[in-house]
Amino acid sequence: MHLYLHVPFCQRRCSYCDFSIAVRKTIPAAEYVAAIRAEVEHGRGAGPIFLTPARPFRGASPGISGEQWVDVPPTIYFGGGTPSLLPPDGVASLLTFLLDASARRLSLDACEVTLEANPEDVTRASADAWRRAGVNRISLGSQSFDDRVLRWMHRVHDAARIGESVKTLRAAGFDNISLDLIFALPQDLERDWGRDLDQALALEPEHLSLYGLTVEERTPLARWVSRGATQAPDDDRYADEYLLAHERLAARGYEFYEVSNAARAGRISRHNSAYWTGRPYLGLGPAAHSFDGRRRSWNKRAWEEYRRAVSAGESPIESEEVLTEEQRRIESVYLGLRTKAGLPVAVVPSDRRAAWAAAGWGEESDGRIRLTAPGWLLLDTLVRDLTGVPSIL
Ligand code: SF4
Repeated sequence: MHLYLHVPFCQRRCSYCDFSIAVRKTIPAAEYVAAIRAEVEHGRGAGPIFLTPARPFRGASPGISGEQWVDVPPTIYFGGGTPSLLPPDGVASLLTFLLDASARRLSLDACEVTLEANPEDVTRASADAWRRAGVNRISLGSQSFDDRVLRWMHRVHDAARIGESVKTLRAAGFDNISLDLIFALPQDLERDWGRDLDQALALEPEHLSLYGLTVEERTPLARWVSRGATQAPDDDRYADEYLLAHERLAARGYEFYEVSNAARAGRISRHNSAYWTGRPYLGLGPAAHSFDGRRRSWNKRAWEEYRRAVSAGESPIESEEVLTEEQRRIESVYLGLRTKAGLPVAVVPSDRRAAWAAAGWGEESDGRIRLTAPGWLLLDTLVRDLTGVPSIL
């Protein structure tokens, strides 16, 4: 099973971010740890077990059918928010508690344990403590190597701190580091995307996640755009920068295994890959989602509301849906096309396959069709065309 913990706290809100966060000067670490424990205790009443080394699952991806035993290492992912704001002993106590609660006592060595960290929180003491706790993968919220851009984003760190953090993490023994970068920023910022890519690659991360900027409602960025203080991201710029990233990363030995994620050999994110292959996962914490193969549920979004529910011994689940066969089929098309696994050719009508090949959007091999980088730029459109569903994403 794959386990996600949402740590909702941040020092401030970044200009583009609409995530479920709680801005706090002082992190209520003890309350958070107690709330997660209470959620697990509550869930145990309903009998879930998790963190078993291999479980049968009904694959959502086309080509995987029926109950199958798959040898997938369990994964634990501390996402946020800013998990690196939790004191490392809070991370350690949660990991110990979760392993004790698992169906079979596992060694953390058998798990991929990721912690999302912001560069300003990485110190030698915190990095050593995360390693001791069992964290073996760090996803670092870098976003840009341009100080002007980082200030515009309302990030706390500066560019120099990113390099220092990677050095510190390496010295503490981390050999699996991912860097996040945001591209397609407004033209008026004059951000040099090629330079940012080069600076990121110079740090030799094992993994990179690249996200195009979107303007989300009720963010500072949305307000700036609506009053004309900056421009909305531009489609041409998005395409140019996305394709440039593919070119630079391929030249340095990285493979895009999903539309926004690239890794060196053997360094894909196993946790995120579980989502993209339709495997079951359990989410803990405010706004966390869970999926058991058919049923998807999500927790109350606001930290205080979530905390009140679990402290009172109530379920924190806000709502749930059971996917129909048709929804599962559509989702599997979307998941297949967004990854390098692609889809079996039989799933895609021959006229579409021919059109995709002629346009350079798809390539066929081994009985599967996979989108190319230009095809991934049109992912939503191609999925809509294939499924006939106007909006599933
Ligand atoms: S640190 Fe991450 S989660 Fe927090 S406000 Fe910034 S982008 Fe959002």
